[in-house]
Amino acid sequence: MLVRIVIGLGTTALAFAIAGRRLWKISRLIRSGQPAPERLRGLRMRAEAEVVEVVGQKKLLRWTVPGLAHAFTFWGFTVLFFTIIEAYGDLFKKTFAIWGFGHNPVLGFIEDFFVVAVLVALSVFAVIRLRQAPARRERDSRFYGSHTGAAWLTLGLIALVMITLLLYRGAQSNTGDFPYTWWAFASHVVGKALHPLGSGVNSVLETVFVILNICVIVGFLVFVSYSKHLHIFVAPLNVAASRRPRALGALDKTPDMDMENVTEDTVFGVGQIEHFTWKQMLDFATCTECGRCQSVCPAWATGKPLSPKLVIMGLRDNMFSQASRLLAKNGDSPEGEPETLVPNTIDPDVLWSCVTCGACVEECPVDIEHVDAIVDMRRYEVLMESRFPSEAGLMLRNIENQGDPWGLGQAKRTDWTQTLDFEVPVVGDTIPDDIEYLYWVGCAGALDERARKGVQATARLLYRAGVTFAILGPKESCTGDPARRLGNEYLYQEQGKANVEVLNGIGAKKVIATCPHCFNTLKNEYPSLGGNFEVIHHSQLLEHLVASGKLVPGPGYEGTVTYHDPCYLGRHNRVFDEPRSVIDAIPGVRQVEMKRCREKSFCCGAGGARMWLEETIGTRINMERTNEALTTGADVVSTACPYCMIMLDDAVRANNKEEEVRVLDLSQLVEESLSTPASP
Ligand code: SF4
Ligand code: SF4
Repeated sequence: MLVRIVIGLGTTALAFAIAGRRLWKISRLIRSGQPAPERLRGLRMRAEAEVVEVVGQKKLLRWTVPGLAHAFTFWGFTVLFFTIIEAYGDLFKKTFAIWGFGHNPVLGFIEDFFVVAVLVALSVFAVIRLRQAPARRERDSRFYGSHTGAAWLTLGLIALVMITLLLYRGAQSNTGDFPYTWWAFASHVVGKALHPLGSGVNSVLETVFVILNICVIVGFLVFVSYSKHLHIFVAPLNVAASRRPRALGALDKTPDMDMENVTEDTVFGVGQIEHFTWKQMLDFATCTECGRCQSVCPAWATGKPLSPKLVIMGLRDNMFSQASRLLAKNGDSPEGEPETLVPNTIDPDVLWSCVTCGACVEECPVDIEHVDAIVDMRRYEVLMESRFPSEAGLMLRNIENQGDPWGLGQAKRTDWTQTLDFEVPVVGDTIPDDIEYLYWVGCAGALDERARKGVQATARLLYRAGVTFAILGPKESCTGDPARRLGNEYLYQEQGKANVEVLNGIGAKKVIATCPHCFNTLKNEYPSLGGNFEVIHHSQLLEHLVASGKLVPGPGYEGTVTYHDPCYLGRHNRVFDEPRSVIDAIPGVRQVEMKRCREKSFCCGAGGARMWLEETIGTRINMERTNEALTTGADVVSTACPYCMIMLDDAVRANNKEEEVRVLDLSQLVEESLSTPASP
């Protein structure tokens, strides 16, 4: 008895010392990040997320088979805490019972049920890993670039925990010490198999396996603290600290870009690992290397070097490699030189390939926020190093000097109204009382020939439905979204402050936006610059007008439509149903979905300011998306974003399909339905 106590407790003490030291170091590393006070606010919301996402495994259960396997492993580990306590108690007294639970047969059943469930789940994981083997599928495997050896070791260790548990309990059932009845079915089955060995051998086996069970558990603890399975400890913290209510939408509020008070210590963006916040450091430590983000990334899917998983893994490796410098106390001479992240850890081609579509953030089961990390590094490159793709320079200068990315100038902002057969009022000093909405037209909508058609159709529909609206005309200027996503936070803030001043100045209370990028910026980002207005996307307003009977789609269009979700309308702002409801309300429409739709929609390739950058690596993202749309057989690809319109239309033409397939804004489609149907 003494020997088993000494071995069991001795091993445990040693493992706790090793794992504890490691976890303490990791916690210090995370805490060495910059402050992020907003990530500790809204405790109730965070507690709810913890219950739903961690305890309820909601995000993982989106994938039925692997989700259930993970959920059973997670719940199994929670329930099996009882068996761990019982194993330690067993070292001292073979019939040990947990106080308050005794040897309730239900507890015995639940324990054995979860042992079996976890073993089944491990088999599922093993099959998934074999089917997704990177050696065979290379870039198509979501585990490409992950530490697959460590993953197999993890599966093996968890299996050993379960097997040794069943073996010691089974042996116990043959020595008369097992306290549970046949309700602990799996232990009794194993006991039956061991029975022929006799009670003497079973007594020895019981001691060996209970000690082995404890050794494997504490060995797993040490392994976890050094491996990607660290997420067992840190994922619940990361979920709690994630941006709430959603990780997408607005980028985090950044400090005022006060160029008057720049000192030599001022850093804009993230150039070295210590410039990240503690929440971002926690992100890096939390990554499970599951590769779900990689498998949905449009840049990765089209052969570019960007994998959101590899970005996070690279930053994590950098964080650990810089640990002695980050943790050096005041007065110590820090070991090693600070390392600039780009290009040492993150290749520039990786950084500039991102379209900020948010598919990675949406997919990540542990709420890692890749887009923020990427934009933060872009900020440093743009503002501190003046390093960015040369084509972007023209776009930034155009916004700065002409107020739009194309440099066409404010005077052209009302040209689109000239073909309308009614007058669109241009707001003067204040918005008149009899005008309900300010229509924020957006640069593309006002200046690009194809995007203009969507804006004109929207204006005509609003007029027809009796909605009063006015525009800013030459007073409207780029929201700054492309500058912000490209990393030029200074230009974004300049544009934002000026626009907010105009909007607040005219007393705008309700704003309609056609462009989802403008919509997102006006709605989610301008409040932090003092913007105080309600913002609605034209697809939402159309849905409201149709639902209230103010706009009744007609029979003028008949055909098959597939709707492409713009990232900044769908994933970033959860507007999925409204455009579909409008399309469904058109009597002659048959709506078909692309395989990747709604939350899983695939970017058109224009976000993150990529609209203005050359796409020279891999295949074109807009071609990939358009090919998917074409396979539906639809004769109209509808969307609700001028960027998407342009990108998809380009790709349809590149496929020589423009005679068969049209790309139309939602409002164009509704307007067409209102035209007189062709005579039979
Ligand atoms: S935001 Fe989109 S493009 Fe960027 S890393 Fe994530 S999935 Fe890839
Ligand atoms: S970032 Fe998230 S989705 Fe991507 S590999 Fe890590 S845990 Fe998985």
